Amino acid sequence: MTAQDTIFSKIIRREIPADIVYEDDLSLAFRDINPQAPVHILVIPKKPIVNLADAESEDHKILGHLLLIVKRVAEQAGLENGYRVVINNGADGGQTVYHLHLHILGGRQMQWPPG
Ligand code: AMP
Repeated sequence: MTAQDTIFSKIIRREIPADIVYEDDLSLAFRDINPQAPVHILVIPKKPIVNLADAESEDHKILGHLLLIVKRVAEQAGLENGYRVVINNGADGGQTVYHLHLHILGGRQMQWPPG
């Protein structure tokens, strides 16, 4: 499988616009186009990893980095009261874009269980 040609790769390559809030060598964060909370930001690796199930041992540095970027971006977005981090994996997980992404959702009270 490849995540080279998803809409997120096009955002990384600046072929389509996005509201980018953070970028470094390994990752990019931008606002979700269809927000499910007052703050809804996606954090993605620049490496085209399809999803968590497709990640490999050699990706451990990227995966750890993404979580630390989630923390940084959430702080930057002012989510001091808390937030939720979601990874939808595969069909049953509700994944629609096959390029790994972490959702940061905040600015309202989250419910449990999720739908
Ligand atoms: P998932 O269902 O976990 O695969 O999440 C994919 C997310 O990408 C959804 O929340 C979409 O709203 C979001 N999305 C799709 N296209 C874009 C885009 N061009 N810019 C920003 N977010 C997008």
